[in-house]
Amino acid sequence: MRKPIIAGNWKMNKIRDEALEFIYTVNQDVPSIDEVDTVICAPDVLIRCLVKRQGDNLRIGAQNMHFEESGAYTGETSPLVLSDTGVKYVIIGHSERRQYFNETDETVNKKVHTAFNHDLIPIICVGEHLEERENNTTKQVVSMQTEKALKGLNEEQVKNVVIAYEPIWAIGTGKTATPDMANETCGVIRSVVSELYGKEVAKQVRIQYGGSVKVDNIKELMSKEHIDGALVGGASLDPQSFIKLVNYQKL
Ligand code: PGA
Repeated sequence: MRKPIIAGNWKMNKIRDEALEFIYTVNQDVPSIDEVDTVICAPDVLIRCLVKRQGDNLRIGAQNMHFEESGAYTGETSPLVLSDTGVKYVIIGHSERRQYFNETDETVNKKVHTAFNHDLIPIICVGEHLEERENNTTKQVVSMQTEKALKGLNEEQVKNVVIAYEPIWAIGTGKTATPDMANETCGVIRSVVSELYGKEVAKQVRIQYGGSVKVDNIKELMSKEHIDGALVGGASLDPQSFIKLVNYQKL
């Protein structure tokens, strides 16, 4: 069966002291890595100090990277630098990157390939805008984003990607997709993977839901067939909330 993966996305929050306090607080209360993958995706400058102090059951991720290893890309982070820090995951194509930093399905796909070339597991974000939800085009939008993100990957790689379904209208707004809505779209993503790579691969790929996930709703979301994890922004910043989220089975 698919191992659940709960990832916090801190976005551009926390200074070093706050990050260290967080990690020392949560380290002992994170579930066994044999049962749940627990990840904190931190700002780049904090990654090295967090990797050094991560407990046995916690892994650190990045929130973005460039698709090239080096070159004249002022202000960007190289995948070489990330893998050298010991980071294990990298979020690719978060809607905030697509919206504010011109990321496209093409750059997302390049970054996904780069991640695998550097032994990083990509957490690929897809999701529709509010108008698209209202126009009933969610299925087409999310299917297309998924197909383009995975283009050119082999079966083994697709089995290892994590896909995060994040409806844009639910991010940071307090509006969560209902568990059924979230499950339905995660099911659409799984069927796209199945069409492209076959049933076996689709059975193994892990799909998260993201968008206003909190202690109150995680358990029900996680009980759904196609939802294998959560990508959590706001509710991942507080250590006590994060501990509850990753131990959702006990809620
Ligand atoms: P949110 O963010 O949990 O604050 O809605 C989720 C995300 O952007 O990944």
